[in-house]
Amino acid sequence: MGNEPEELTDVLIVGGGITGLSCALFLRQQGVRCVLVERHASTSIHPRAWGWYPRTLELLRSAGVEEPVLQAAAGYAGHRRQATVESLAGRELKAVMLPEPGDLSHLTPSRQISLGQDRMEPIVREAADRAGAVLRYGTELTSFECPGGLRGPVVGTVKDRDTGEERRVGARWLVAADGGRSPVRETLGIRRTGRGTLQHQVSILFRADLEGPLAGRRFSICQIENPEAGLSGAVLGHDDTLRRGTLILQYRPENGAAAEGFTTERCVGLVRSAIGDPAAEVEIISVLPWELAALSAERFRDGPVFLIGDAAHVIPPIGGYGANTGIHDAHNLAWKLAAVLRGEADDRLLETYDAERRPVAEATIAQAQLRLMVRSGRASEEQRGATLDVLTVMLGHTYPTVAPEGELPQFREPEELSGEPGTRAPHLPVLVGDRPGSVLDLYGSSFVLLTGAEGAAWQEAAGPAAERAGVRVRGVRFGMADVEDLSVGGWHGRYGVTPAGAVLVRPDGFVAWRSPDADPDPAGALERALLGAVARGD
Ligand SMILES: Cc1cc2nc3c(=O)[nH]c(=O)nc-3n(C[C@H](O)[C@H](O)[C@H](O)COP(=O)(O)OP(=O)(O)OC[C@H]3O[C@@H](n4cnc5c(N)ncnc54)[C@H](O)[C@@H]3O)c2cc1C
Repeated sequence: MGNEPEELTDVLIVGGGITGLSCALFLRQQGVRCVLVERHASTSIHPRAWGWYPRTLELLRSAGVEEPVLQAAAGYAGHRRQATVESLAGRELKAVMLPEPGDLSHLTPSRQISLGQDRMEPIVREAADRAGAVLRYGTELTSFECPGGLRGPVVGTVKDRDTGEERRVGARWLVAADGGRSPVRETLGIRRTGRGTLQHQVSILFRADLEGPLAGRRFSICQIENPEAGLSGAVLGHDDTLRRGTLILQYRPENGAAAEGFTTERCVGLVRSAIGDPAAEVEIISVLPWELAALSAERFRDGPVFLIGDAAHVIPPIGGYGANTGIHDAHNLAWKLAAVLRGEADDRLLETYDAERRPVAEATIAQAQLRLMVRSGRASEEQRGATLDVLTVMLGHTYPTVAPEGELPQFREPEELSGEPGTRAPHLPVLVGDRPGSVLDLYGSSFVLLTGAEGAAWQEAAGPAAERAGVRVRGVRFGMADVEDLSVGGWHGRYGVTPAGAVLVRPDGFVAWRSPDADPDPAGALERALLGAVARGD
């Protein structure tokens, strides 16, 4: 093998779980070439994540994948019941109905849905494949080097696990989406901080007839408490076929228990106890040991290598934040890599990935830990008060690094979002041509300059300012071109400016800058705003 890589690309993604696949999709949305390698032959069969929040759906919507995801989720509608039972067929000790998510249409064009990660990953995989990402399953990254130093390139050696054939892939950057154990992170010696492993768990994915035991009941999660059978765990993840489920149990290595102890025979017995029928026909599909842990990497970037998803942060799954946060990482990074490739930005923009995403991840881990305390009944009054609504964490996280106008808290209530730089640009109903949609549909591929009927000077300035800054901008003037503002009170009220003001939105749908009113030098103001937004300002 010579020294030259056999294959060249812009980004080499390691890991074909939900965050690696999302990264491939978002990079292709930006026109960036990428090669993804995943050591397994396929996506994971374990449902793991069930809850997907509106911000995640908004990002998938902007990449054209919301529709198939909603279709797949339709089979899980109505599972809002949480119960504690002796067994699925046995006595019900208590049950609660989770509140309906409520009408979120004033906040988002998207929804909160339930869908197993095992169903979500193939949808994103297909979309990334269709968009032109090179996806290599059954292929492992065995080593990598950065011959060009901090700014790249990276050369990864990847191995086809069927044939044993090795090849070298050269890329400008490497994205490590290789999960909690992240061999890439370990190779780089990036340490993690946090509470560490809090519990050891095992997920037993089984096939069995749940229709009889459930007797018409449905649930999102069913806590099994049967001291006689020595069983304490949870069953979740049944779909409408009622033929499959996951039994999750905690085991204690401090008492000598080990994941290897969950043999097929023992798992069949445990699932039968959970069902409440010692003769039930049970097939064990797979047993997945995992750690309920709270850990964040000390840095999310090391030269040309970026950590995303569980490689960067492991979030206890209470609240359902892990996979959602990983997708948000991928989206935050993709447009920045694209901007550097297009020559619109330099390396300084890439530094903002860690600066923006690590505080969000750490604050989200803290929120998941608070939820864990609340669930265990050990939370103090103060901890209960500090526990935020899931939608605040998922829709209201902020980037105080984006030239804020004042002090920006790490989370804002979604209702309070009002076009402040560093916050998610608020949703507004609009008519694009004759198609009703959301203003969010305009964001994704370039910066967008929002102005209104009195914003002619801003729009005239946009071309020259964009040219001088060397950054692409799409101008949107409500009511004057083909975009009509259908909101009550007007776009400017929601975005905190006057009808003569302007708002600059980044490709990831976060507000970069706004001018509350007209400016005597709109081209100069806009040029400075654009340079600041791509980290080329003073
Ligand atoms: C029981 C449970 C319930 C959960 N519920 C939720 C929820 O409701 N909502 C939520 O948001 N999150 C939830 N999570 C968390 C969520 O599942 C994870 O955050 C998510 O899977 C992380 O995705 P990832 O792509 O970063 O990592 P992974 O899914 O771990 O994928 C990493 C991939 O990298 C591959 N890989 C590793 N090394 C290499 C290599 N050298 N070469 C090639 N490939 C490699 C691995 O094979 C793996 O496929 C839950 C987790 C569990 C366990």
